[in-house]
Amino acid sequence: MKRIGVFTSGGDAQGMNAALRAVVRAGLDRGAEVFAIYEGYQGLVNGGDYIRPIGWNAVGGILQMGGTIIGTARSAEFRTREGRVRAAYNLIKNGIDGLVVIGGDGSLTGADVLRSEWPGILDELRQDGQIDEDEYARYPHLAIVGLVGSIDNDMWGTDITIGADSALHRITYAVDCISSTAASHQRAFVVEVMGRNSGYLALMSALATGADWALIPESPPDVENWEDKMCEVLSAGRKAGRRDSIVIVAEGAIDRNGNEISADYVCKVLAERLHEDVRVTILGHVQRGGAPSSYDRTMSTLVGVAAVEEILGATADSTPQLIGMKGNRVTRLPLMECVEKTRAINAAIRERNFAQAMELRGRGFQESFRILRTLVRALPHEPKPGQRRLNLAVMTASAPAPGMNTAVRAAVRFGLDRGHHMLGINNSFLGLIENDIREFGWMDVDHWASMGGSELGTNRHVPVGKDFYAIARTIEEREIDGLLIIGGWAGYTSALHLLHERENFPAFDIPIICLPATINNNLPGSELSVGADTALNNIVDAINKIKQSAVASRRCFVVEVMGKYCGYLALMSMLATGAERAYLNEEGVTLEDLYCDVQMLNTGFEHGKRLGVMLRNERAHPLYTTQFMADLFEAEGGDLYEVRMSVLGHLQQGGDPTPFDRILATRYAHRCIGFLEEQASAKSSDVTCIGVQGSDYKLSDIDEIVRRYDAKHERPKEQWWMGLRDIAQMLAQPGPQYRSKRMLAGG
Ligand code: ADP
Repeated sequence: MKRIGVFTSGGDAQGMNAALRAVVRAGLDRGAEVFAIYEGYQGLVNGGDYIRPIGWNAVGGILQMGGTIIGTARSAEFRTREGRVRAAYNLIKNGIDGLVVIGGDGSLTGADVLRSEWPGILDELRQDGQIDEDEYARYPHLAIVGLVGSIDNDMWGTDITIGADSALHRITYAVDCISSTAASHQRAFVVEVMGRNSGYLALMSALATGADWALIPESPPDVENWEDKMCEVLSAGRKAGRRDSIVIVAEGAIDRNGNEISADYVCKVLAERLHEDVRVTILGHVQRGGAPSSYDRTMSTLVGVAAVEEILGATADSTPQLIGMKGNRVTRLPLMECVEKTRAINAAIRERNFAQAMELRGRGFQESFRILRTLVRALPHEPKPGQRRLNLAVMTASAPAPGMNTAVRAAVRFGLDRGHHMLGINNSFLGLIENDIREFGWMDVDHWASMGGSELGTNRHVPVGKDFYAIARTIEEREIDGLLIIGGWAGYTSALHLLHERENFPAFDIPIICLPATINNNLPGSELSVGADTALNNIVDAINKIKQSAVASRRCFVVEVMGKYCGYLALMSMLATGAERAYLNEEGVTLEDLYCDVQMLNTGFEHGKRLGVMLRNERAHPLYTTQFMADLFEAEGGDLYEVRMSVLGHLQQGGDPTPFDRILATRYAHRCIGFLEEQASAKSSDVTCIGVQGSDYKLSDIDEIVRRYDAKHERPKEQWWMGLRDIAQMLAQPGPQYRSKRMLAGG
């Protein structure tokens, strides 16, 4: 039987617990024994009680906790060969020859150093008589796999690291709060965020909050007198009507000459040159703290499971891998290549080779930086002389989804900056029918980045009959050259109808693009819709509160979540909350399922379980309703537990968009405006939909999208996330094969 050691090291990050839980449970599920190594490398060096078997139940109820329950530390001893010899000795004595390291680049390097020294250390231990021949022969190599725990998102080779999304949550919330007080007093605020060598948090939080300026280490301001430039932009913004100014500074921000740019310095510059009341807020460790976001819980879970697969498949010749994310997919890359490239970025910044630093950060980072530079402008660029100025229209359609306003704001500003007229259509297609349209100026969308709901107004009206004539007249009257529809299936269907009515109405011969925005995430051609992440966080927060309400009693909750016939929200919230079960329409519910679930609940509560959460998608079954299930469990549970039902309802649709949704909305909108401009300039008129597919953003023809849609169930025929079903199920309940007391209870 394989023995896997797992530890967290370096700076803590929200989501480390989720990764630990996944490693422990996936390891046990695959028949391995799992050992927790407490306090990082120091525990490895100390041995003894610092290395202990950890069981299924020991990692129960930790998904929602920040930090790491097995502790983390920095170890000077491990940096010495002597320390590493002790570490190897302790691993061998515990029979561990596979390590899952959850930490930053320092921690991952440390693991690789140990791995490369392993054969030599083994010889040394044998010669000293500390290990016997048998032990020497049994552990010829050490397998390692790395997961990146770092709120800074500073690792090359993965789009995102464990903790970065939660840190963005903290920053976004803080900056939203600061914006409102700043606007009341017409103040300027300088906000310092973490990131010594990485501008990710500063860049993305500036994008997400609609901040007015950001300073990052990888790309310092490209002019010598950047202070003048910054003040010019901020004061122009004031003149244009902004009531607040927010500057976000990464803690490692520098100028072109490599001199530090501190938050205090920026404050001084603003106060002296703008004669404004300026305040500094240093967010500090708040960014590391608190509960992990929904994304951090699921992403860390998925990379944790992949780490176990990797380590169990490792051979003597395998190169250590780093498990990360590329777009919406888990990826594996050689660990040391990732560490070396990360070091190269840091070196490039030190050597002031900023072009190389940006190059190594990758396309997504560069694109986001370009986007930010457009969005922070006080006014758009002047149109170029002789340029054809297009009339681009934007609307929101279907049910409201958090992030719709963010997308409109971004689209409006990108369009205006390229010299076009941006028209906002009120009330979805009704506005197009009634010619209810406004022309947007730059400042009209100033605060829209953080606002939930839809300021333009949205509804599910799909044009029919006489509507088309009215729409054609509006398009002609307003000389609309391209249309962006932000919304769900009603928007997509309407786009399709316009395409089909082109024969009758030549006015419809314009490019149209749909931007997926629905909390249900039920659109083909896009694995991620704007709004779904916010809904998931709403669900996860609600379930946290529900769980806390039950501390004093043994209770089972049946919680109903939205999604219509699409089980995305139910399954992803099962992964993020560790619920026992998710009932999905995709799978249906049988009497036998319910019977088994009653057995599972009863057995669990008989053995000391105190809390159960059963998630039910709102249309999981027409007759086995949420009430029915609650009644059934109540009746069958007898005195073992009480049952409560909770229908989460519209709280899932509301609230300010999460940073993830804001960034997604902004990046989608950027591509959409690019598409409309390109098409209109080339006199093309494609009707298309944008979406994340795997690791990239792609466009799909509307006809193709319709072919991939299951109209009866209002969801894609193929849903990528159904592949996560088995993982969710495996992590939720221990299978019968590893019911040994030691495995269940260790830790
Ligand atoms: P992070 O993992 O967050 O980058 P550190 O750089 O502080 O954090 O590394 C955490 C620990 O990893 C260190 O305290 C040390 O024990 C170990 N470590 C880091 N670099 C090395 C190295 N080059 N050789 C051996 N151990 C290392």
